[in-house]
Amino acid sequence: MNKRLYSNLIFELSQRGRRGYSLPDYNYACTSMNLPGSLLRAEAPELPEVDEPTVVRHYTNSSNNNFGVDTGFYPLGSCTMKYNPKINEAMVGRCGIANLHPSQSTASVQGALRVYRTLEQYLAEIGGMAEFTLNPFAGAHGEYCGLMVIKAYHLSRGDDARTKVIVPVSAHGTNPASAAMAGFEIVEVECLSDGTVDIDDFRSKLDDAVAAVMLTNPNTVGMFEKNIPQIAEAVHAAGALLYYDGANLNPMLGVARPGDMGFDVMHINLHKTFSTPHGGGGPGAGPVGVRKGLEAFLPNPRVVECADGTLDVADGEYGFGRLGAWLGNFAVYVKALAYILTMGPDGLGKVGPLATLNANYVMHALSDLYLQPIEGPCKHEFVFDGIRDKSTGVTTLNIAKALLDYDFHAPTIYFPLLFHESLMIEPTETESKETLDAFVDVMRKIAVDAVSEPDKVKGAPYTTPVTHPDEDEAALNPIVKFKDL
Ligand SMILES: *Cc1c(COP(=O)(O)O)cnc(C)c1O
Repeated sequence: MNKRLYSNLIFELSQRGRRGYSLPDYNYACTSMNLPGSLLRAEAPELPEVDEPTVVRHYTNSSNNNFGVDTGFYPLGSCTMKYNPKINEAMVGRCGIANLHPSQSTASVQGALRVYRTLEQYLAEIGGMAEFTLNPFAGAHGEYCGLMVIKAYHLSRGDDARTKVIVPVSAHGTNPASAAMAGFEIVEVECLSDGTVDIDDFRSKLDDAVAAVMLTNPNTVGMFEKNIPQIAEAVHAAGALLYYDGANLNPMLGVARPGDMGFDVMHINLHKTFSTPHGGGGPGAGPVGVRKGLEAFLPNPRVVECADGTLDVADGEYGFGRLGAWLGNFAVYVKALAYILTMGPDGLGKVGPLATLNANYVMHALSDLYLQPIEGPCKHEFVFDGIRDKSTGVTTLNIAKALLDYDFHAPTIYFPLLFHESLMIEPTETESKETLDAFVDVMRKIAVDAVSEPDKVKGAPYTTPVTHPDEDEAALNPIVKFKDL
């Protein structure tokens, strides 16, 4: 009862004349401040009038309606949601970092620039690339940046006829979107039944109008593309460059490097692979790495080493342009660097194997009840095509919603588009065996209930504040404003 009362809108909790403070009357009323009349409101603003306990309970209860990686397991495929170590927050909260201002002189921010440069160098080592920029603000922004680097490279050679970018049908949706934003035409390449690139279809589409080929490995169904050396050779023979979408690089850490596989340009999502928070719109960071020979085309500004050992911020001669104000999302860099330093090379080397082990553990524990359309071991994530028993009418959407009643976030659903009832799970390397077992138990219970009590599963969730919104209507005509305001 209590909880329900406080989760009303704050405006509904308002009582005329109610105050959230009590102070002696010091006669500091607004009118006595001699503000010019032109700056004063004619009428008082419509603010909620509430007492302090009500405000606190309202916001605390509202925040408890949120699901986050700090409150529960988040098995979201294709979009790594791993634990965010609290030491990262402690580092970024230190006053020497939290109080920085971007327009300070470079002499007064040498430490911050060293954080920036060190992170660039670590990422170059991890990715097997010659150089990195941290400037992009998100993964999609990184893709855009990488494609602009590729465009600048081709143009620098007088090659202005490369108008196309090849993207596999299984790619993350941002790949074709970023290529279109960068002014390219998108050519789709088909996948085989195991989700990997169809090499014959790929070869048939590769010509001298192709500027770049965008790939993810492991791909977005969690399978390792074994033909990368062959693909890289064909791409380079055609004069194009090979782009690596490394948003989720965790399965690769400690195992392989995109640069060694023949990729020319890549991005990494610090807000996925390097444990900085994500969701709710950011802030994130999508650093971009390039192989030797492409450094000059990275965007401006760059952090550069001076002869006297200090660091400066400068524009490069051939930088393709700027991506935003200043150097990017600095707090995210501090958190990512804290993660890399606290893990060390040995810790980072365990990330890929553990992410892979956890995914295979969960897949194996569920594949008798859920339909596994791709045979064999996966990497960091896997896809089911709904439950095995197709006679129940229970869909992937029903299963995702049923999980909410057990305090688990839903997996990714209806992506990739390769299967009708796709349900995509990534446990990540940061979850304990006990958490994975608890998740497996619930997934098994839902699959069993789907057969014995299908209507019960179809009616879920029963415990969330909102249960079955009309999703089409909500997407087409969203109501983003409280009706009475
Ligand atoms: C998340 C993701 C992206 C996009 O990253 P944003 O930061 O959301 O823009 C790109 N590719 C893959 C494979 C991803 O998982």
